[in-house]
Amino acid sequence: MAEAAQSESGTPGSAGAPPSGPGALPPANPKYAWARIPRQAPPKRSADERVGDFREIYSNHDEAAIRAQASRCIQCPNPLCAQACPLSNRIPEWLALTAQGQYLEAAAISRSTSNMPEICSRVCPQERLCEGACILNCRTDAVAIGAVERFINDYAFAHGAVEANAAPPSGFSVAVIGSGPGSMACADQLAQSGHAVTVFESQLIPGGLLVNGIPAFKLEKHIVERRINLLAKRGVRFELGVKVGWDVSLAHLRRNYDAVFLGVGAQRPKPLDLPGGELRGVWPALPFLIQKNVASPLVDGEPIDVAGKRVVVFGGGDTAMDCLRTALRSGAKEAVCVYRRDLANMPGSRKEYANALEEGARFEFLTNPTEIVPDGAGGIAAVRCVRMQLGAADASGRRKPAVVPGSEFTVPAEVILVAYGFDPVPFPPTSDFAGLKTDQWGGLKVDADQMTSEPGVFSGGDASRGPSLVVHAVRDGRKAAVGIDRWLARIPAR
Ligand SMILES: Cc1cc2nc3c(=O)[nH]c(=O)nc-3n(C[C@H](O)[C@H](O)[C@H](O)COP(=O)(O)OP(=O)(O)OC[C@H]3O[C@@H](n4cnc5c(N)ncnc54)[C@H](O)[C@@H]3O)c2cc1C
Repeated sequence: MAEAAQSESGTPGSAGAPPSGPGALPPANPKYAWARIPRQAPPKRSADERVGDFREIYSNHDEAAIRAQASRCIQCPNPLCAQACPLSNRIPEWLALTAQGQYLEAAAISRSTSNMPEICSRVCPQERLCEGACILNCRTDAVAIGAVERFINDYAFAHGAVEANAAPPSGFSVAVIGSGPGSMACADQLAQSGHAVTVFESQLIPGGLLVNGIPAFKLEKHIVERRINLLAKRGVRFELGVKVGWDVSLAHLRRNYDAVFLGVGAQRPKPLDLPGGELRGVWPALPFLIQKNVASPLVDGEPIDVAGKRVVVFGGGDTAMDCLRTALRSGAKEAVCVYRRDLANMPGSRKEYANALEEGARFEFLTNPTEIVPDGAGGIAAVRCVRMQLGAADASGRRKPAVVPGSEFTVPAEVILVAYGFDPVPFPPTSDFAGLKTDQWGGLKVDADQMTSEPGVFSGGDASRGPSLVVHAVRDGRKAAVGIDRWLARIPAR
């Protein structure tokens, strides 16, 4: 039995403060479970084992452990975790139910604010969101919110408790462009309102970066497929291999649908402006990640072979961590990250950095590449680098790196993976989508309802906010669905 359920009595005190001082009784109030029960990370496979495959590295706690972990929540009256969650997930409610062993009820509450909690629990950087805001951080370690969210939702699927049915038709139809998490959330919400939703996706496998980006060792593909199947059960239609703006015009969509949602992401790699950047063996991150993580004949492209080779990854974000770990799983002799700032200023998640280190990745911090050295046969021999030092903070608060004079050195490499981030793919100038207003970065401008400069055309996720997180895309998709409902209420049904 979970410790939270052991005793309802105990010494009252201020929220979160365990009794202390000479002669204090051992804490019995469930509010103090956190003082008796340490935070426990979910079971993780050993680095040696996991670099041999692409399966997820974490698994679920058993029931006793998950109840104990959930019981660490002190149920604060003003839950900062929920405020820090972009979806305002009702976290304390499902933690309390989990502590009592009511997993299905907990999962139902978790689904009420999230269209894919089993996915967010796997990929959210909880340490920067809900867990980062947990009040327990002031005294000890945060509640393991992500592990509980994952457990209850996996439990609900395993017990057949996650279903989807078609709602009574509203008479309206909506075209959803792209099938990433933003579009999936928007389509799900719209279908629940009874609108006829058609998803147009340029790739042959739906799921956006959940499939064609985030590696399987963080999120196995069958989990995304299961969500897509649920959308189909709700009545959402998928048209795959259709590149909207190229194959289909906005005018066509307007004639056939009452509203449009553009969830096209931002997947154009930032350019590598370096001598030698054109050499054979220099690759952008995404084609490499897709090729190695998506075992499907639908994925084509020139094979990127890293087996037995020295791989250098440029960049310090999550994509860079994913490249390092994917290279090691693909047989690379070594995988080295070259990043111009230090660890404290690296944007990648600390959890994924630690996982990459465990798996054998090497990090050259405060290092900038200056040239890719050719091997004389069209390929790569090494990367010439300089050491950097951090100067004063710029307007964004990040310390600006500057070159250390006379610090040149080389890192041997046969393959280079460029993970410098992404920009939006612009619509062709001849397309009637090209008239949509964008910001200076190229992202689609949207109003408070996620509506673009074109009435009835909405957007969200990376396409409008820039490369971000799955949970932000889900939030935008849900917000856009509310905006679309408002828009549809103003026009007559066909
Ligand atoms: C390698 C990598 C790892 C990441 N890891 C994490 C992580 O661990 N946690 C996290 O929270 N976030 C992570 N992210 C970020 C996250 O994946 C994105 O923020 C999120 O997927 C954005 O969702 P979206 O729906 O806006 O767009 P996307 O997921 O990019 O989906 C856009 C979809 O639109 C389709 N499309 C584009 N143009 C057209 C067109 N003209 N016509 C039809 N279809 C089109 C694309 O093919 C794609 O399927 C990662 C990103 C990358 C690249």
